[in-house]
Amino acid sequence: MAMTDTPASPAVELRGIGKSFGDFDALKNIDLSVARGSFVAIVGPSGCGKSTLLRVIAGLETSTNGQILIDGADVTDAPPAERGLAMVFQSYALYPHKTVRQNMGFSLKIARHPKADIEAKVAEASRALQLDALLDRYPRDLSGGQRQRVAIGRAIVREPKAFLFDEPLSNLDAALRTETRVELAELHQRLGTTTIYVTHDQVEAMTLADKIVILKAGEIQQVGTPKRLYAEPANEFVAGFIGSPKMNLFPGKVHGRRFTSPNIDLDLASNHTPTDATLGIRPEHLAMTQAGDRFAEFTVDFVEYLGDESVVHGHISDGTPMKLRRGGEVTLEKGAVVGLAPPEPSHVHLFSRTDGVRLAGDEA
Ligand code: ATP
Repeated sequence: MAMTDTPASPAVELRGIGKSFGDFDALKNIDLSVARGSFVAIVGPSGCGKSTLLRVIAGLETSTNGQILIDGADVTDAPPAERGLAMVFQSYALYPHKTVRQNMGFSLKIARHPKADIEAKVAEASRALQLDALLDRYPRDLSGGQRQRVAIGRAIVREPKAFLFDEPLSNLDAALRTETRVELAELHQRLGTTTIYVTHDQVEAMTLADKIVILKAGEIQQVGTPKRLYAEPANEFVAGFIGSPKMNLFPGKVHGRRFTSPNIDLDLASNHTPTDATLGIRPEHLAMTQAGDRFAEFTVDFVEYLGDESVVHGHISDGTPMKLRRGGEVTLEKGAVVGLAPPEPSHVHLFSRTDGVRLAGDEA
């Protein structure tokens, strides 16, 4: 391994990573730079290559092309043990016949660390994870959330250069998942260890990560902060993936300052050369209006009342489904027809219908 570490080098850097299984390309030309101390989430639908990418970084899979650098050193051909990374899986894989204390200290014992050193590190990690009271228990006597914390503790004691998490919360029930997610965020804040986290859950990615990587069919679609991905999705796929309920999408045309379809006529803040386009507006950015200034008519199908907010399901005249999200309770009868007020320009998204890429337009 050539050591070229400098303070400026990222914790993990991928250059042109490709991975093929036979003639199937699971990863295509992945470039990614993970800054030291950052929390990067890799998200995408099932089968898009998230786990494969993590396994390639860990060294559990060999990449077909490209280069992997950790702290500036080329580890492309290094075995997992030499990479200094710790992986936490969805299945906790704890040793059933060892106590929490023994599970957490085991990797250090194998590496022949002095006993006092192991004890100190296990104590520190168990304090951070609030496992002190459980150190003498066996995994069978722990809840799912506690087992996952032990698995994380086992990774922490190794003081890795980075944590690699593969869907660590997906075995937990909804309440515990939310709780453990908050614990993970706090833990990252406290330890500051570089973290790469794979999930199919966009809410986990949005709440935990400094930077999100969106993968589709082995290719990166966009890399950015959660805010950026929400406010300026680079293409229609990202627009549909981030946000819940999903962004409303309507096919039509842009020409000059207008987006039109048979049932939509919207004034845009930017100028466009005429082309087929998809209009995107998030459910929370749509408002009903009684006034004359409306860009479409919306027919109500049903209202989902969620306590703090309501999701109004309906459609525009041509039948294209549409959702609106409003705070509090919304009282609307099925079949009611309401006008939709033009959203503010920063809430209007336009995508090419040829390749789905975001259309910027020129100053109007
Ligand atoms: P999920 O969210 O369902 O776990 P993922 O995004 O993690 O999906 P991967 O497990 O990385 O997806 O798999 C990516 C693609 O590569 C899939 O189509 C999968 O079938 C394929 N694949 C993964 N491992 C192998 C293998 N060892 N041999 C052949 N194909 C594989």
